[in-house]
Amino acid sequence: MENTVGAAPEIMLRMSGIHKRFGELEVLKGIDFSVVKGDVLAVIGPSGSGKSTMLRCINRLEEIDAGTIEIKGRVLAKNNSEGTAEYVSEAESREILACTGMVFQQFNLFPHMTVMQNLLEAPVQVKKRSAEEVRPEAEELLRKVGLFDKRDSYPGRLSGGQQQRVAIARALAMKPDIMLFDEPTSALDPELTGEVLKTMRELAAEHMTMVVVTHEMAFAREAANHVMFMADGVIVEQGIPAEFFAHPAQERTIAFLNNML
Ligand code: ADP
Ligand code: MG
Repeated sequence: MENTVGAAPEIMLRMSGIHKRFGELEVLKGIDFSVVKGDVLAVIGPSGSGKSTMLRCINRLEEIDAGTIEIKGRVLAKNNSEGTAEYVSEAESREILACTGMVFQQFNLFPHMTVMQNLLEAPVQVKKRSAEEVRPEAEELLRKVGLFDKRDSYPGRLSGGQQQRVAIARALAMKPDIMLFDEPTSALDPELTGEVLKTMRELAAEHMTMVVVTHEMAFAREAANHVMFMADGVIVEQGIPAEFFAHPAQERTIAFLNNML
């Protein structure tokens, strides 16, 4: 978005010329976009269009074949003279990616740990902070997602919606600057999606920078400030939600949106 007064907004993520293949299958065919601080980008599109792969390329769960990835102004990967992407060292990559957090469709909580232990794990093991220091922050996050009273429960005793809210709190415990969500409500019974979306809306309202792959069109329309429609490995169309949903320009976007209603 244009900012005509004051300083230019900080670019949190820039993806340019991103190509990714799995064997013969080219899954990302030249993806370009950037996200500035406080943006909530909703990524929509049919199954198999490359949304998850794109998201996983941001934090190096998948590696790109070509293109540039910059996070908060630091290069994670860029093309060499042959046009092939080269990554920075593992150590530098970890440092750069420390500001990202991810929430998956399948929660992925540690089943043998309590809710509180799930939140403490990464700050203590990865950041080498003391549990005593992290615990009050973790308690605060659990209050924020409405699950303070479940702090000593094991994930298996929680509903899917509660587990996903714990997963969000767990990601936040690492104090990320960018949160990545891959269809966070798709594994939930319909009656449980609302509580997770509410938590995400609250994060958005606090200006957390978010990239959200979702099938929830209401969330994309109301909570996001930018929508991107992907199909077959390309960005077909993107824009601000009000414009995008009211006046989709491309045939494929119109067909997809008609299907979602
Ligand atoms: P979406 O999230 O939009 O449904 P994905 O990024 O999961 O799409 O998948 C895009 C394409 O890449 C699909 O054809 C999928 O089968 C394929 N794909 C995804 N991950 C892998 C993988 N690890 N190995 C091989 N093919 C994959
Ligand atoms: Mg996916």
